[in-house]
Amino acid sequence: LNCVVIPNFKLNNGLEIPALGYGTWVGLDKKAEFIAEDVPQLIDAMSYAIDVGYRHLDTAHLYRVEPEVGYVVKQKIKEGVVKREDIFITTKVWNHNHRPEDVERSVKASLRRLGLDYLDLVLMHWPISVSQDGVDEKIDYLDTWRGFESVLKQGLVKSIGVSNFNVEQLTRLLANCNVVPAVNQVEINLNLGQKELVDFCQKNGILVVAYTPFGKMVPSRLEEDCPAVRHDDPVMLALGKKYGKTVQQIALRYLYQRGIASIPKTLTKSRVVENASIFDFQLDENDVATLQKFDNNYRTVRPIFFQNMSNYPFDKVDVALPEIPLSLRKWKNGANLDID
Ligand code: NDP
Repeated sequence: LNCVVIPNFKLNNGLEIPALGYGTWVGLDKKAEFIAEDVPQLIDAMSYAIDVGYRHLDTAHLYRVEPEVGYVVKQKIKEGVVKREDIFITTKVWNHNHRPEDVERSVKASLRRLGLDYLDLVLMHWPISVSQDGVDEKIDYLDTWRGFESVLKQGLVKSIGVSNFNVEQLTRLLANCNVVPAVNQVEINLNLGQKELVDFCQKNGILVVAYTPFGKMVPSRLEEDCPAVRHDDPVMLALGKKYGKTVQQIALRYLYQRGIASIPKTLTKSRVVENASIFDFQLDENDVATLQKFDNNYRTVRPIFFQNMSNYPFDKVDVALPEIPLSLRKWKNGANLDID
């Protein structure tokens, strides 16, 4: 097998996290329905990822695939490919579980679905709290964080962190917490550089993990008339040619050189290897400056249906707001167990 060697970053609690992980969100289709038919391919690609050297899996309660992630990990342990302690597994607590006691329930249910006795990292998926009926529960994320500190203390998880927090929210959390989050997982890619947020996190010892690390720069997400860098942008193609890499590898390498971990998602085995083959070259200073210029604050993930919820972390847009899709409120997970 084609082996990839992925270096680690250190977290503020002394533990290590691989600088590149495998993202497991297969997503929603145009009707906002979960793409369940992709799950078998996910199992295959994830399994292959561990075979070739991935040691970091990013999942969430929302993603419906905790049972599948657990199945693949158990399989790889049985085959002798890895030991549990070689793998870094992240999951997330969804927006309807923001009461401290619900955080604990959610983490225990994730462990049960995954078939694990501990998690490496659990994140608060968003700073907003929304009931399964779509009602703003207005629970303060400081209260939710107490639930995270409690599951850490109980040893259910080795590290705790947040996701989709902005600088203001992190500042308030840091001033009012016992445990500093180990990670803030946010969208970062060539168009959304998030310089201020990344600087803030790095100054405060919070590791930044980039989700949607390609933004729109993959053929499957190409949109005409969109202010995002295209996969066939001549500047990107020239950089790819110069380093003998694909434009997607250039994008991931740029994140790594900024000290940011990333969790690209792919169901395609050749891309599993491609996306992790970025640790054998170095972008020079001029090229880093060129890549920086693509930053135009364009967000690929903008859930405007959450916009009026308390603690929505992004700037608001002035359009008629759609309803929150049912698939982001209620679901059965991949093993068809109730979600608790
Ligand atoms: P990505 O930026 O990882 O893009 C995924 C898309 O890019 C897929 O269509 C995939 O196609 C394609 N692709 C992957 N690699 C390549 C390549 N080398 N060349 C060409 N195309 C490629 O976006 P995601 O939004 O999936 O984000 C990644 C992960 O981040 C998620 O899976 C999830 O774990 C996490 N996430 C977290 C969020 C949060 O709120 N905390 C929000 C969103 C994501 P194909 O699969 O067909 O190969």
